[in-house]
Amino acid sequence: MKQIILAGAGHANIVALRRLARVRPAADVLLVNDGRFAWYTGALPALLRGEVAAEAARIDLVALTAACGARFMNARVAGYADGFLALEGAEPVPFDVLALSTGGVKLEGGVKPIAGFLARVGLWEAQAGVRLGILGAGAAGVELALALRVRLGAGAEIFVAGAGGLPGAPAGARAVVRRALAAASIVVVAALPEGVELLRAYTDVPELRVGDDLRVVGEACVFAAGDCARMAAALPRSGAIAVRQGRVLATNILRLLRGEILQSFSAPPAILAIIGLGGGRAVGWYGGFWWHGRGVMRVKTWLDNRWLVGI
Ligand SMILES: Cc1cc2nc3c(=O)[nH]c(=O)nc-3n(C[C@H](O)[C@H](O)[C@H](O)COP(=O)(O)OP(=O)(O)OC[C@H]3O[C@@H](n4cnc5c(N)ncnc54)[C@H](O)[C@@H]3O)c2cc1C
Repeated sequence: MKQIILAGAGHANIVALRRLARVRPAADVLLVNDGRFAWYTGALPALLRGEVAAEAARIDLVALTAACGARFMNARVAGYADGFLALEGAEPVPFDVLALSTGGVKLEGGVKPIAGFLARVGLWEAQAGVRLGILGAGAAGVELALALRVRLGAGAEIFVAGAGGLPGAPAGARAVVRRALAAASIVVVAALPEGVELLRAYTDVPELRVGDDLRVVGEACVFAAGDCARMAAALPRSGAIAVRQGRVLATNILRLLRGEILQSFSAPPAILAIIGLGGGRAVGWYGGFWWHGRGVMRVKTWLDNRWLVGI
């Protein structure tokens, strides 16, 4: 039987796993992830604000693979060569098709791995008058700053730095975010002051190049998608893009096994972005349109739950 390996439980591989489960191809499907849980960054701010428990902000991969008729292996991927996936501390595993979805470049002081980040938050909570500097004033950085204010309380000093903040957001949405940051006493700066606890809320451009069909350049049977993959056109590193890539990934895994022509991924013209502001409110935008209030937060919570509980 053919062996499909999904390496890393990023969004694209979770979508692919769920889709393959509906088709049940004549192939063995193995998901490899460096931990039993796939943490969902979309729900991370709500977790920090104490609105949801850890169990509601992550996917249990043992349960998911069982429901999908696939196997799960808790191991760290070290690379691949000649049809074998290399693992840390375990024998290499052969594959016919490999899909990599291991997330963005890991940075010192980064949000990922999330388990490590949550451990740091625990240390900051125990520290009186912690000074926190968040690098990256995009949607993730701003949402984390607001959520950390709720978590760490008024005693913490929180700075956010990053040129160009909220790329693509309409002026009205930016104004709402500016007011929310000011109300939460979060200081927006051009450069972080000395001596702060650094949190990087961005990832670097990945090195792994993929073609339009999501195959790694130069490889016939290896795909990559999500934040670990670099397409010719610069794409935002977002879960929304990774989910869309996951749909093409599932199709192309099946087509490759059947010897059919592969599908191309084309990025959508705009993606829906929603930032939770705390207090049950959120601001969202899509292209030039934007909305703000409790209804937007309800939409975000609905979307998050749909992602987390779907098989
Ligand atoms: C606070 C915050 C909020 C965000 N909110 C949103 C949002 O609302 N909407 C949105 O679209 N985007 C959001 N993003 C962006 C989003 O998190 C990422 O772009 C998205 O997670 C895509 O990453 P991915 O699916 O490629 O991989 P990830 O979600 O990072 O998953 C990678 C998986 O691979 C595993 N892994 C990593 N390395 C290895 C290895 N060597 N071996 C085995 N397993 C490995 C990891 O444990 C993890 O399970 C947010 C980001 C942050 C920081």
